[in-house]
Amino acid sequence: MSLLRVRGLKVAYGGIHAVRGIDFEVGSGELVCLIGANGAGKSSALKGIMGLVRAQGDVHFGDASLRRLPTDAIVARGMALVPEGRGIFGRLTVAENLDMGAYCRRDREGIRADLARVYALFPRLHERRAQLGGTLSGGEQQMLAIARALMARPRLLLLDEPSMGLAPLMVAKIYETIAAIAAEGVTLLLVEQNAHLALKVSQRAYVMESGVITLHGPAAQLACDAQVRSAYLGE
Ligand code: ATP
Repeated sequence: MSLLRVRGLKVAYGGIHAVRGIDFEVGSGELVCLIGANGAGKSSALKGIMGLVRAQGDVHFGDASLRRLPTDAIVARGMALVPEGRGIFGRLTVAENLDMGAYCRRDREGIRADLARVYALFPRLHERRAQLGGTLSGGEQQMLAIARALMARPRLLLLDEPSMGLAPLMVAKIYETIAAIAAEGVTLLLVEQNAHLALKVSQRAYVMESGVITLHGPAAQLACDAQVRSAYLGE
């Protein structure tokens, strides 16, 4: 059954039609990626789903429509976005940033257990738990942003370009962790320009070009597709 179902999603900024009516879904427990070049409309699609920009179309999450819901209500229903640029609190410590991720929750025991779980996923964050977010390296900030989103215990985690601006070793580490999070059963929607990495960890993929979805299918199949290989895998 699909956890997220998107039909006819459109996002426009004035006269710029960034997303031109796209359909896609993410099944419960799946890791699905949306790949495409810079400017294809991937981030706008995520923002439209989360209610961060005005969008048209139908977004179903679980068995409910998200139509006209504000972002905080969408978050309360179990969606968490790790935005491009991460958006961590630079003047709060790592531990305080993680507390902020759980602000909607009241189950102290569950929060404590999830804190142990994210520190196990990201030992580096545990070592740096008293350090200010703003003093972390780019890769550590990306870890913190993902860990903070997990503290909300989301039913669906949306990741926008987690590899952006990171050194190759750190990118590999982040992707190992994404695979580990998926293996724990968290449902993920991943947006990436780096098609190579995204196709490696995902089960299914959608290719976006100039605001529309041009291809979709099992990630392993798209990774062998001649068009995808020449346009996105540099072959
Ligand atoms: P990137 O990987 O660079 O984020 P993307 O595929 O996520 O690319 P979007 O960021 O969604 O693409 O941008 C899609 C189009 O919408 C681009 O032409 C971009 O210039 C435009 N756009 C994005 N945000 C805005 C905005 N706030 N105002 C006006 N135009 C915007």
